[in-house]
Amino acid sequence: MSEQAVATTDFDRYECRACGYVYEPEKGDDKHDIAPGVPFAELSPTWRCPVCGAKKNAFTNIGPAGQASGFQENLKYGLGVNTLTPTQKNLLIFGALALAFLFFISLYGLQ
Ligand SMILES: [Zn+2]
Repeated sequence: MSEQAVATTDFDRYECRACGYVYEPEKGDDKHDIAPGVPFAELSPTWRCPVCGAKKNAFTNIGPAGQASGFQENLKYGLGVNTLTPTQKNLLIFGALALAFLFFISLYGLQ
C-alpha cells in the first residue's frame, strides 16, 4: 500500500517550484510541441518550464491528477475513524467508571 503511494506513475504532474506552472502529462506542453500523454520523465533533458524557463530539476512531483479522489477517500476514512473514536472513548470512560463504581460498592459490601 505505502509502496504504491510512493511510486511514480506516467500520469504524475510536476509543478515548477519557480513559478507554479504545472506540467500535466494528459495535456502535454503546447509551447514546446509536447503531445498530450507524454510523461514528465520522458521529456527531453533540455525541456524548460514554458512559463519561466526553469530546468526540469526545478520541478516537483505533485502526483497524478486523480490524486484528489484518493485524498477524499483518505479523508472519508479519517472522518470515519474520528466519528467512531469519541463513541468508543465514551464507552470506555463510562464503562471504566461503572466498573470502578461497582468495584467500590463491592469493597464496601465486603467490609
Ligand atoms: Zn516555471
